[in-house]
Amino acid sequence: MAKPRIYTTTALVLKYRNYGESDRFVTLLSRDLGQIQGFAKGIRRSTGKLTGHLELFYKVRISLAIGKNTDVITEVQILKTLDKINTNLATVSCALNITELALNVSTEGPGNEIIYDLLDQTLNKLNTTNESNADKLLAYYQLNLLFISGLAPEFKECVECGNELTKQDHLYSAPAGGIICPNCSLKQIGALINLSINAIKVLRFIESTDIDGIEKFAIPRNLVSEINDVLNMHTNHHIDRKIRSRTFFQEVK
Ligand SMILES: [Zn+2]
Repeated sequence: MAKPRIYTTTALVLKYRNYGESDRFVTLLSRDLGQIQGFAKGIRRSTGKLTGHLELFYKVRISLAIGKNTDVITEVQILKTLDKINTNLATVSCALNITELALNVSTEGPGNEIIYDLLDQTLNKLNTTNESNADKLLAYYQLNLLFISGLAPEFKECVECGNELTKQDHLYSAPAGGIICPNCSLKQIGALINLSINAIKVLRFIESTDIDGIEKFAIPRNLVSEINDVLNMHTNHHIDRKIRSRTFFQEVK
């Protein structure tokens, strides 16, 4: 019998699903290969060769044998465990949130390098930072992921008329994709939510800074939740729509 073909890559563990009594399907994001799924045989046995090697958020060097339906994980070397994320509810829920978003926007195959780098960078920061920074890092990650996906919200000019926005509180519309000026808001039918001038300033700051900048910058709690509400709404509306159209495209292909 011919030996199965084996490939090796560096990847982050994003998700797993238990199977049978002691096995697991593991989903990872590789920088060069995109999303990969592997079958981890015996991983839930206390003595399994892979046991404890593929926990959530781990960075691993992994080898897989190409299978008929699913590839089989043959070797795993742990490169980084990021264990501190799991010691706190704020950091672990942020990490779960961002890995789910990464799963939603990444694809199989090449072309996922920027998504991988952003996830890797944010998980590393979550592992070292104070737990009180988790919500800020979620906002940073969401906004940057929207940029990468070409779906960033518009905060500088009105999405309807293109006029520059005056320095005041404004209204945001998820379907329109950004802020609507007072004139245009009168003609809007969909739901609009209030976005304070200070929240708009913070969003523009996040757009212009790097991850260390966001970690150091003190933002009042209420503003962080205001911007996360808007970014969640924007992400749900635009990324979900993109996923649905991608699924549809794959189904009709
Ligand atoms: Zn307008």
